[in-house]
Amino acid sequence: MQKEEAKRLLATVHDELLQLIEGTPKQVDPAQLIDALHDAASLLARHSPDLSSLTFAPCRIFDDAYREIALNSIDSYSDSNREFAKISDLQRGLIEEREDNNLTQRFMEIQASLTREVERAGEIITMLTDRIHELESKVSIDPLTKVYNRRAMEHYLARFIEHNNGGNTLPMHLMMIDIDNFKSINDTYGHIAGDKILILLANLLKKTLRDSDKIFRYGGEEFIVALNRVSTGGVQVVAERINVLMRKNRLKYRDREFGVTLSLGVTMMQPGDTIESLVERADRALYQAKANGKDQICVE
Ligand code: GH3
Ligand code: MG
Ligand code: MG
Repeated sequence: MQKEEAKRLLATVHDELLQLIEGTPKQVDPAQLIDALHDAASLLARHSPDLSSLTFAPCRIFDDAYREIALNSIDSYSDSNREFAKISDLQRGLIEEREDNNLTQRFMEIQASLTREVERAGEIITMLTDRIHELESKVSIDPLTKVYNRRAMEHYLARFIEHNNGGNTLPMHLMMIDIDNFKSINDTYGHIAGDKILILLANLLKKTLRDSDKIFRYGGEEFIVALNRVSTGGVQVVAERINVLMRKNRLKYRDREFGVTLSLGVTMMQPGDTIESLVERADRALYQAKANGKDQICVE
């Protein structure tokens, strides 16, 4: 990237962040600010692949952890290799001592040590694989609601688009869900109650949706669900079920009972869609649902 181009890009990002802060009446919402910074980092990374390491701090943590695992595994394998070297020395000795009467006995011993070493190597591989899975889920799962995070959504959609371009896209739908008047829930009952609502919604989605549907926490109180191989009518039925369940599930908090409603925006993936165009359409549908009076579903 040219110096002038980089300067212009940084100036745009800077202006946008200032606008976000100045456009807010009293207090800056940290979640919104983090989102804006995240967008800024993605924007910069798109313009210069060298900056991609900046897009998401946990990526670096992830890389470090991978490095640590690799070093550990090299150590373990070196141990195993030393054992194997000892065993081959023994075998060499065995071949040289042809007159040894306990040939069978010694052969059995060597076989047993070999089996032990192979088993040990197997255990190490299983342990390392588990550790990698654990790390992978840590960086792609939202710690509060335990659904996938926005980073995981971007990976998922990018892969989906890559494998389904060329016009024969499977009917995939995106559903954007936003809790109505969530700010006032936080203001009235406190942030802990707000967090409980987020967990309740995530659990309700996990229970209601199929395993093949993917649930992501997109932002503060916004979730995105990707539904595969289903008609728009089918998605509307699912969306309606989610809405009804959420209305029915009232939450008790410090002797007070309250409920929340949801607004949902649904869109079907079109050939040539990018992550941005797809999410933007779902967002537009959601905006329409809000404009029509909230607590409803809108299909774009
Ligand atoms: P609308 O019906 O138009 O969606 O209004 P809203 O109040 O839901 O939307 P708004 O964007 O004004 O407020 C969202 C609130 O969500 C503000 C923010 O403090 C809160 N929020 C974001 N993330 C979290 C979180 O992790 N926990 C809690 N408790 N609140 C959060
Ligand atoms: Mg919102
Ligand atoms: Mg909301």
